[in-house]
Amino acid sequence: VMNRVKPTTCIIGLGLIGASWIKALRGQDKVGPVVGYDRNLDSMQLAKETGLIDEYTEDLALAVKDAEFIIISVPILAIESILQTIKDSIKSDAIITDVGSVKGSVARDIRRVFAKDLPNFILGHPIAGSEKSGVTAADETLYQNHKVILTPLPETSPGALQFVIEMWEVAGAKVETMSVEHHDEVLAATSHLPHLLAYSLVDTLAHSHENKEIFNYAAGGFRDFTRIAASSPTMWHDIFTANKDAVLHALDLFTEDLNKLRSAVETSDSTAMMGVFTRAKVARDHFS
Ligand code: NAD
Repeated sequence: VMNRVKPTTCIIGLGLIGASWIKALRGQDKVGPVVGYDRNLDSMQLAKETGLIDEYTEDLALAVKDAEFIIISVPILAIESILQTIKDSIKSDAIITDVGSVKGSVARDIRRVFAKDLPNFILGHPIAGSEKSGVTAADETLYQNHKVILTPLPETSPGALQFVIEMWEVAGAKVETMSVEHHDEVLAATSHLPHLLAYSLVDTLAHSHENKEIFNYAAGGFRDFTRIAASSPTMWHDIFTANKDAVLHALDLFTEDLNKLRSAVETSDSTAMMGVFTRAKVARDHFS
């Protein structure tokens, strides 16, 4: 019988997001023995030394064999092959969840790998994080008062959903549910587009000025706007690849508005400029 009080747990991917969740769960004594798996051996060793996990193994199928709760916390495009590898080793009643920043591609991966025989898989995405990465960035307070979005599939078992909600609430998160499609559209606009713009701006400045001394004169505005350009390149490569359509849609809307603003600057159209800046200031002031 499934032990949902202190489940035997397997964490796949010992980076910022997964390690922080495990640290919070262990801190509240909500998980049983924890087995870790990561493709980086140093991360597994460090996780064991610091007590984040009890054991690790370089054999992924073995890592999940006894697990009642499985957390997948790797870059989006690595998820499908992990599902292939664990498919025949997981317990039939294990609850699996992920933390990936795009949900449509994971939903497709699950259907491709498991076909009609879907496991108890709860798709999730914590709206918390930072530009830091790796096991050393683990922070048990990362999710406190942050939202976590779960995107249940039509087949999702209510019991499994409730279990994952509780595991996030233990970490201090506020859980909301929405559809996979709605999640990917909203996050394309609020998270993916800003990251694309930050990467692009920093890259433009870096290569258009041979001498990097211009960064010495960058003030708070540059710092605020571009902090996220220090995020993991692999993680963001995967996000833009997996959420291409929604990102392109958000980018097209933005490009249209940016071109209008360009014309306003070119023609010194004060009414147009003041309109944009005032509307944006009001919107930003209402958002804490
Ligand atoms: P991270 O780089 O800190 O950790 C990822 C870990 O996965 C690393 O330890 C890496 O070695 C491991 N890994 C990579 N490929 C693997 C594979 N094929 N098999 C096993 N291990 C593998 O990244 P993170 O910030 O923890 O991101 C993990 C997931 O969380 C991503 O899907 C990301 O989209 C999502 N996410 C990130 C943030 C954020 O702000 N960083 C926020 C919400 C969700």
